[in-house]
Amino acid sequence: MAENPFSNAMKQLKKAAQVSGVDPEVLEKLKRPQRILEATLSITMDDGSTKNFPAFRVQYNDARGPFKGGIRFYNKVNIHEVKALAFWMVMKTGVVGIPMGGSKGGVIVDVKKLSAGEIERLSRAWVRAFYQYLGPRTDVPAPDVYTTPQIMGWMVDEYARVSGGWEPATFTGKPLAIGGSQGRTEATGYGGAMIFEELLTKLKFKKGKTTVAVQGFGNVGYYVAERLYELGYKIVAISDSRGGIYDKRNGGMDPKNILKTKQQKGMIDGCYCIGSVCDCENYTHITNEQLLQLPVDILIPAALENVITKKNAGRIKAKAIIEMANGPLTPDADEKLFKKGIPVVPDILSNAGGVTVSYFEWAQNTSGFYWEKDDVLTKLHEIMKRSFSEVWKIAQDKKVDLRTAAYVVALKRIEEAMKARGLASV
Ligand code: NAD
Repeated sequence: MAENPFSNAMKQLKKAAQVSGVDPEVLEKLKRPQRILEATLSITMDDGSTKNFPAFRVQYNDARGPFKGGIRFYNKVNIHEVKALAFWMVMKTGVVGIPMGGSKGGVIVDVKKLSAGEIERLSRAWVRAFYQYLGPRTDVPAPDVYTTPQIMGWMVDEYARVSGGWEPATFTGKPLAIGGSQGRTEATGYGGAMIFEELLTKLKFKKGKTTVAVQGFGNVGYYVAERLYELGYKIVAISDSRGGIYDKRNGGMDPKNILKTKQQKGMIDGCYCIGSVCDCENYTHITNEQLLQLPVDILIPAALENVITKKNAGRIKAKAIIEMANGPLTPDADEKLFKKGIPVVPDILSNAGGVTVSYFEWAQNTSGFYWEKDDVLTKLHEIMKRSFSEVWKIAQDKKVDLRTAAYVVALKRIEEAMKARGLASV
């Protein structure tokens, strides 16, 4: 049976609570979301027919500030997944110490089968279904899997129509023209690259020699790979939903070239092309499962959850893993890898660059003062570096894995906020 991401999230919480000694009242509150919203979105399709799409918003916890979390348009999304993702947002904002809570949204839909007009109608319908529960001081959505800045643009416009006022701080990840932040598009990937460099310093790996495999070639996978390539690391494998390319010589590939081929051919090919010159001998097509098992230094799952489980954890040959997707490892896999001495930097830390710059976007919108890209990335770097160092120290002091350590950091901040607000007894 498929893994239930919410049960996995609760196992992680239970394990961390034992280490952190978090107040039992706080722990009880964190075992369930504050609010679950569900709706059916009825959309007129281009051919005049009507289709219905189930939609969700889970507002998990707002002890530290407004709910904050993306919206996923995906045919396999379900309420357990949205609950888990909302819970992880609470932990993520907690571990990096930004003043927000956690939420998540979803629509069960295969966007690849929809026209741009149908996606726009769906996006606007999502806002009409939930707008009374959204707002800069209430709940601030953002993009996630298969949702884009353009979708945020439609959503913020629909929100202005139904709420009667222009409130760009209600959504982050918007286009720059309507209050998006410089650096938001690449923030999650770049933040991951910052964590990557912190980890490598601890592991004493050499820059020119470190090999990397990235699963997923969307917003997160592309930008983490692009940044690492620029910094001088060797990207030897990359994949998307249909598989990927492996550099058999470990020479390293420029993700920009792979993107160009994908744009031309509609998929990641087994040949590596620079302009019109393609090398099919030293490169090969690989499946997503093969990519996970490559003998690389660093493995970066950046697509979907539950890709490394107890079934394949024993076959992982990477020396360390940086989770860029949300929930790519199950608790069983975590345990196996910890025993094997393979460090796993958890999603709630390594992909927190996105929510951090979303918070910067929200701060810019609410203050009306806009920052240069360098300021955004410098501030992001400070937060990622400080957060990594806090988590690493706890992992060393308490002799626990990095995920448990990250939860300990987040739980302390959430507990303090709940007590300060009188949401748990002092
Ligand atoms: P995206 O829609 O831009 O890209 C998803 C990528 O995953 C695509 O390349 C797709 O081809 C690939 N993919 C889909 N199914 C796959 C499969 N079965 N095997 C391998 N690859 C597959 O999404 P994204 O924004 O890059 O998000 C990726 C992950 O990162 C998600 O778990 C998301 O929740 C998480 N995340 C995203 C952000 C953000 O700012 N976008 C922030 C934090 C976490």
